[in-house]
Amino acid sequence: MQLIFLGPPGAGKGTQAKIFLERAGIVQISTGDILRASVSKGTPLGLKAKSFMDQGALVPDDVVIGIIEQRIQEEDCKKGFILDGFPRTLEQAKALDEILAKRNIKMEHVINFNVPDEELIKRLLGRASQEGRSDDNPESIKNRLQIFKDKTQPLINYYEEKKILRHVDGVGTTDEIAERVKAVVGV
Ligand code: AMP
Repeated sequence: MQLIFLGPPGAGKGTQAKIFLERAGIVQISTGDILRASVSKGTPLGLKAKSFMDQGALVPDDVVIGIIEQRIQEEDCKKGFILDGFPRTLEQAKALDEILAKRNIKMEHVINFNVPDEELIKRLLGRASQEGRSDDNPESIKNRLQIFKDKTQPLINYYEEKKILRHVDGVGTTDEIAERVKAVVGV
């Protein structure tokens, strides 16, 4: 089973992906996690990505598309995967369609987590103090929310037209939200 977890930063995509993958026996592919790992290892990819990430800007499309194309060919992705934080632009979504089509892989569900801005800001500031993510500062948070509206929100229509978009209310306890995902996906 292949899914995309869509939604603004702080919507709980990563948390819900971790719960879902245990239940469904599939893997999570988070471009944010892959990029953060590259930054901390100081790889060429990490060096290229760091300044974009610190400002809350998007890393260039070709970079993240390349990451995804490589990752989904790995053996552990054969049973299925959740894309968490990718795609984030129409260009990425179109590239993903091509990557999947070439390999005869079908995207089944795109879960859109709906969370109001005030709640997102509260969560992201909370995460900043708990996890110390360098991009969870007020300036970067503002940027990331604006970029979501400008660049990622159009994907909602894109997947709605493909009839694979599912809306999930992202406000509530982690368990409540996990139950909503289960009800929508059927797993
Ligand atoms: P995330 O953990 O998904 O919030 O991602 C953290 C940061 O990594 C983002 O603010 C971007 O700078 C970068 N990033 C992650 N995924 C993508 C993507 N699909 N396209 C562009 N930049 C990304």
